[in-house]
Amino acid sequence: MVLEVQRKDSRGYFVVPQAPEDAGYYVYGTPPGGGGQFAHSSMMSALLRVEREWQAIDHRKFGIGNISLADGLPYPKHSTHLSGLEVDIRPLRKDGAEVAVRWSQAGYDREATAKLIALFRTFAPVVLVYFNDINIPNVSPLAKHDDHFHVKLRT
Ligand SMILES: [Zn+2]
Repeated sequence: MVLEVQRKDSRGYFVVPQAPEDAGYYVYGTPPGGGGQFAHSSMMSALLRVEREWQAIDHRKFGIGNISLADGLPYPKHSTHLSGLEVDIRPLRKDGAEVAVRWSQAGYDREATAKLIALFRTFAPVVLVYFNDINIPNVSPLAKHDDHFHVKLRT
């Protein structure tokens, strides 16, 4: 067993645990290895809570992507991801594969994705969700949000 030293940045933010085997989520994004997953403590609690709730209702893992870079440095192509309170999450796929899917594709699982978004709303202080599948209640469409939804939290 390899013990990973938990990385902490100048804000005191830790990197999301890099998806241990029994976790209800997997990680993706750039840079790899969690380099873009420095999370505010409010975000960390929310993700781990949602993960627990999700595991109780579904055996598939959901994908956690970019949050913020160490020290809140500017994030090329992810300009809003500075505070550690914003996260990109992949929609669920019917086959459970741990890869991207667009909401307009056949492999996309709307029902499961709607459940996951509802868990965030129930168990985390959600400010808004950007996602282009507007069949899901209370999401706001935004360019390029076809293969992930973006959750913004309060502290
Ligand atoms: Zn985003």
